[in-house]
Amino acid sequence: MSEGLQQKRVVVIGAGWAGLGATYHLAKQGYDVTLLEAGPYPGGLVAGWQTAAGKSVEAGIHGFWYPYKNIFSLINELNINPFTTWTRSSQYSPVGLEVESPIFQHLPRLPSPLGTFLYTQFKRLPLVDRLSALPLLYAVVDFDNSDAAWRRYDFVTARELFKDFNVSARLYREAFEPMLLVGLFAPGEQCSAAATLGMLYYFILAHQPDFDVVWCRGTVGEKIFRPWVEHIEKAGAKVLAKYRVTDLIIDSNNRAKGVVCGDQVFDADAVIFAVGITGIQKIVSTSASLQSREEFRNLNNLGAIDVLATRLWFDRKIDILRPSNACFGFDATTGWTFFDLNVLHDEYKYESGTVIEADFYHANQFLSLNDAEIVPLVQRYLATCIPAFRDAKVIDSSVIRLPNAVTHFAPGSYRYMLPAKTSFANVFMSGDWIVNRHGSWSQEKAYVTGLEAANLAVSYFREGTPVEILPVEEDEAHIQVARSLNQTVRNLGKSILPEFWLP
Ligand SMILES: Cc1cc2nc3c(=O)[nH]c(=O)nc-3n(C[C@H](O)[C@H](O)[C@H](O)COP(=O)(O)OP(=O)(O)OC[C@H]3O[C@@H](n4cnc5c(N)ncnc54)[C@H](O)[C@@H]3O)c2cc1C
Repeated sequence: MSEGLQQKRVVVIGAGWAGLGATYHLAKQGYDVTLLEAGPYPGGLVAGWQTAAGKSVEAGIHGFWYPYKNIFSLINELNINPFTTWTRSSQYSPVGLEVESPIFQHLPRLPSPLGTFLYTQFKRLPLVDRLSALPLLYAVVDFDNSDAAWRRYDFVTARELFKDFNVSARLYREAFEPMLLVGLFAPGEQCSAAATLGMLYYFILAHQPDFDVVWCRGTVGEKIFRPWVEHIEKAGAKVLAKYRVTDLIIDSNNRAKGVVCGDQVFDADAVIFAVGITGIQKIVSTSASLQSREEFRNLNNLGAIDVLATRLWFDRKIDILRPSNACFGFDATTGWTFFDLNVLHDEYKYESGTVIEADFYHANQFLSLNDAEIVPLVQRYLATCIPAFRDAKVIDSSVIRLPNAVTHFAPGSYRYMLPAKTSFANVFMSGDWIVNRHGSWSQEKAYVTGLEAANLAVSYFREGTPVEILPVEEDEAHIQVARSLNQTVRNLGKSILPEFWLP
């Protein structure tokens, strides 16, 4: 570590996956890093804590999918063992069990997306409906996650996309829209078609094992963030909770030189934002320096989605087919999931009753209900899927409301989302809503954008080594061929036809 390096101060704002990722790498490179977090604990949307009665709760259960290579690599580096083995999942509607998914990596590997279609066990959806997804493969090939592809598809809603490709109404209602409600947290008419194609490709379609998932054997806060923050502090970074950033101080060269938290100022040679959409909007609303930039003012055109996380303790053991379950058809615009924590979490393995986490996405209409209204509603929904819940008694419960919590990939929002580099040379953006080209989503994307922001700081100061970011597994050979053919035809079209049609 050189003298010069120690003097470079980086302030990171927000301690979720993105902020912790950036802080850890820069601290390891010898920078003087201060991480400011508004909440009482690090973790962001994934933070977990204990109730007054000492029971673990968290802001929704989080899965870690097969392609989360960078997070899995971090787990190896930290030498911790937080995860379950690969788990199977089911899907329910008010009619009952609809779908069972196998562990795809245990089955003979077929060219994508054949394995996904053939190995997923649909209990009711007729073959003819499933086959109606085939024409959509053109859009999957055409959407290559480039800037041009985002601009072509982002103005279209997911519902229009599926309609234009003649996906059957039943397949849309019973397969695609449920995936959108749990993957992008919104119904099809409110999702960008670009985000839809990107998300479906990453989690389901690109390679057969991609939909395989593991869960933490406790809260992510306890199993991952606690040991990780210990490593981060050992590497020399300061992690300060309950520090809400309100402004940046910009010098005459248009560089940030300080970060304001109420009446305190943290001197900075570079700043990394790692807050969600609602967080950055609040900062912009109190920051004259950010309001002076169009790119930051435009962030007010973005939106976020309400989520509700509940945990119910029942007085008896109830048999549940699979530990993780997604549900659709209960409310028109809300998706929900439930998890058997006796199977997933070490803490509840030997509990005499059943412990269930039930999370609701796009839960707008539920947030104003009080706990005494929400708990019986959750029990009723659970009993619709698994009748044994009807007679069980709820002996304890936790209800966590998360208004405007998760990124809304609304149609037309791409043009307002920011890339990692801003118009301030030493201010970088990160988080799961940032524009990047890695191809990952959710926690993995948040972590990767944190690493990318750290690398931008390293290259800005020209000191230290960039962290290696593992790319998403490349497209299978037949997809590569289809994409390159499609690109050739597209370029040919461009060279002979005028730009006449809307993208
Ligand atoms: C219920 C639920 C279920 C989910 N399920 C999954 C899943 O199964 N798998 C998956 O991969 N992802 C899932 N996600 C998404 C995942 O949680 C996010 O993609 C990821 O956590 C985003 O991380 P981040 O670092 O970008 O932002 P965040 O986690 O939002 O962190 C931002 C941090 O910034 C802080 N902050 C905000 N304003 C300020 C300020 N002014 N000053 C200082 N700090 C500030 C916030 O307090 C917060 O800690 C789920 C989300 C929810 C809510």
